[in-house]
Amino acid sequence: MVMLRYRSRSKIRNKLRTPGGKLVLHHRSRKSGNHRCGNCRSILAGVSHKNILSYKRPSRMHGGSLCTQCVKAIIINMVEGMI
Ligand SMILES: [Zn+2]
Repeated sequence: MVMLRYRSRSKIRNKLRTPGGKLVLHHRSRKSGNHRCGNCRSILAGVSHKNILSYKRPSRMHGGSLCTQCVKAIIINMVEGMI
């Protein structure tokens, strides 16, 4: 059994396959700080700084992962590709 301090739900658990073929759990703490855009790394608006996925995020496409400027650039590229 793992140590009691690692049994907390606030820890992230990763299943890893060891070179010997065993499946083990690795526990790590969540990253703190603001959510950032996956493209330009700017701080996202409308997203809680708490790193919990169940918290509300913007309902537009790529809400909670990309900023508005990056989504706008993607949409403009798509529309220009169609023309
Ligand atoms: Zn961005």
